Amino acid sequence: MAGMSTTTATARPKVPCPSCGKEQEWSPDNPWRPFCSERCKLIDLGAWATESYRVPVAENDAGLEEPPA
Ligand SMILES: [Zn+2]
Repeated sequence: MAGMSTTTATARPKVPCPSCGKEQEWSPDNPWRPFCSERCKLIDLGAWATESYRVPVAENDAGLEEPPA
């Protein structure tokens, strides 16, 4: 059974860093979100600027939920 059951009692959702993929807590205290750090944010922006950005995972319509602001 593949479900989206969340049994963990985490107050904050975990989101993968778009740059390095590292899971992190979605914290309003993180000014670099959705990235894990300033470094990853700069890396991602730089990748976009050089048009070398690649999305390793295939897109799916499973529905990505935006974490609450
Ligand atoms: Zn990162």
